[in-house]
Amino acid sequence: MDENSLEVVTAIQATITASVLCQKINRDLARRGSILKSDRSPVTIADYGSQAIICKWIKEKFPCDAIVAEEDSTDLRNPAHSRILEQVTHYVNDFVPDASPERVCSWIDFSSHVVTDRFWALDPIDGTKGFLRGDQYAIALALIENGFVRLGVMACPNLYVEKDRPDGKRGCLFFAMKGKGSFQMDMDGGEKRVLSVSKIENPSETFMTESVEPDHADHLFHQRLAEKLNILRPSLRMDSQAKYGIVARGEATLYLRVPSPSEPGYKEKIWDHAAGSIIAEEAGGRVTDVLGHPLDLSCGIKMENNHGIVVSNGILHDIILEALKM
Ligand code: AMP
Ligand code: MG
Repeated sequence: MDENSLEVVTAIQATITASVLCQKINRDLARRGSILKSDRSPVTIADYGSQAIICKWIKEKFPCDAIVAEEDSTDLRNPAHSRILEQVTHYVNDFVPDASPERVCSWIDFSSHVVTDRFWALDPIDGTKGFLRGDQYAIALALIENGFVRLGVMACPNLYVEKDRPDGKRGCLFFAMKGKGSFQMDMDGGEKRVLSVSKIENPSETFMTESVEPDHADHLFHQRLAEKLNILRPSLRMDSQAKYGIVARGEATLYLRVPSPSEPGYKEKIWDHAAGSIIAEEAGGRVTDVLGHPLDLSCGIKMENNHGIVVSNGILHDIILEALKM
């Protein structure tokens, strides 16, 4: 697979289109237009719109491939949410002229939660809470074959393009192919840049990134690890898999995700890590769980064989795993 492969071209185009839709909805609706799923996590018109567009494109180009995506249309089909479905259809229609409420639901439902030999893992909006706050979020799509990620594409519409200029231009597209490296482009086009992780060797110089949401990671434990390693720089809290992107481009040295005490048995979902992990690895980084085990994306939508996540520049990985044994 190279960057001209149909898989890569389709994944990049679909992801960018979905992110344009998400940004438009963000501007138009801000906090309005969200409904609560049964698990109480916020899901927006944008989640549904993004999934509808990406699933439609993938299915059109790869009719035999399975798609494992976060959302389904059950809540959307509820007559109580007909207004939401109308709005989703309205926005999708800007990009897919033949959209209708029924078609939008059927495109969303191209996805199932059944993992096969070759499938696409999609988080139509990773970091929905960040999206609702106007902070970071990502549209994350990965192709997985026999349990290994072959391709990862991630659009981060609110992420600053230059790692040294957080107030500068925003909108990053990350992508990586197995064995072919990891890249960043501006979302509105332009040259692609090869990414490589930071070369820092001294653990005290680690720059850590972690979730914003305290329920998603154990901030206190992260702080204790920072003290143990004499890390002076405060960690950067950021929503979504954008954290993998900033490790890949050598900005952060460590993305740590120790399960939060509010939900210690939480199992990570494949769509929250598949795209990000190959983007960090192909830039020279290392990705394991907190026990040092490689990520196992082959056992269903939940990563039952892993506990938490550690993403580093590689050089510091073993030191961090050792320090985590507290
Ligand atoms: P982040 O923005 O890195 O905090 O990650 C967002 C993702 O965290 C969401 O897409 C959820 O799938 C996931 N998530 C939800 N609950 C938890 C939890 N208790 N622990 C870890 N991750 C979670
Ligand atoms: Mg997610």
